[in-house]
Amino acid sequence: MTISLAVANQKGGVGKTTSAVNIAALLAERGHSVLLFDLDPQCNATSGLGISTSSQGDSGGETTESAGDIFDLFVGNLSLDSLIVPTNVENLWLVPSSKDLVSLEAEIGKLAGRELILKTQSKLLKRDFEFVIFDCPPSSGLLTLNALGAANRVLIPLQAEYYALEGLSGLIATIDFVKNTYNPEIEIFGVFMTMFDGRTNLANQVRREAENFFGAAMLKTAVPRSVKLSEAPSHGLPISAYDPTGVGSAAYRGIVEEILNKLSGQSALPMAANG
Ligand code: ATP
Ligand code: MG
Repeated sequence: MTISLAVANQKGGVGKTTSAVNIAALLAERGHSVLLFDLDPQCNATSGLGISTSSQGDSGGETTESAGDIFDLFVGNLSLDSLIVPTNVENLWLVPSSKDLVSLEAEIGKLAGRELILKTQSKLLKRDFEFVIFDCPPSSGLLTLNALGAANRVLIPLQAEYYALEGLSGLIATIDFVKNTYNPEIEIFGVFMTMFDGRTNLANQVRREAENFFGAAMLKTAVPRSVKLSEAPSHGLPISAYDPTGVGSAAYRGIVEEILNKLSGQSALPMAANG
């Protein structure tokens, strides 16, 4: 069975994309086949992997040979298989995003079953991936609802700041709603601190509060603030390629290790499942 992880937090700028790209790349580095979905009209995951599509606009980088982008999937023009492009990272493929996604709500916002498009299309996928990762936009709109419908687990990056947990109540309510309506499988699987500075009281306090609140879902690894992590996307590279021996790589390796350990504890690892 494919493990599908939605990286979500309604709050902007907490490290969703950085985490989605780097976790995806490190899983791929370990030999797992990974498909990353960029579900954000900002296209940060797409450009961060050095890929540009015509509908994504200006930025340089390699133009993909994909037939289109994720917008075409949602409006029913193209199949998921035709949208998948390879990246510079072996074993890592991408479904690129598009600026057109900003108008998605207007386009299909009244359609019955609109939250289930991604799930339905994913089931039609002919290619097989061990991991599917969804990089969600900072909202609880249609794109996040689709990711939560198609995923079976949620990863929540958390930035240490006042109201970090209060801000999560909306996300948790959204996950509960999805679980109770159209995706009973969905669970909060991993919560981790990003841009973490262990020298400050605030950071440690938020971490303790998150541990109390999320219990076993809280990961031990915290991602520190690292300039290299913020530079890597402008080179179109994940941190494992841009700065393989730095603290950012080490942190995301730790997160991936914890994810894999948790999955093998749940007997859910694709490798284990396949013998
Ligand atoms: P959005 O909600 O807009 O999609 P996001 O939650 O995806 O944002 P990112 O884009 O991953 O967040 O990160 C926000 C900014 O912080 C980016 O400029 C990114 O490079 C930077 N950043 C993320 N993680 C770190 C880190 N550990 N150290 C330093 N900078 C970081
Ligand atoms: Mg993002």
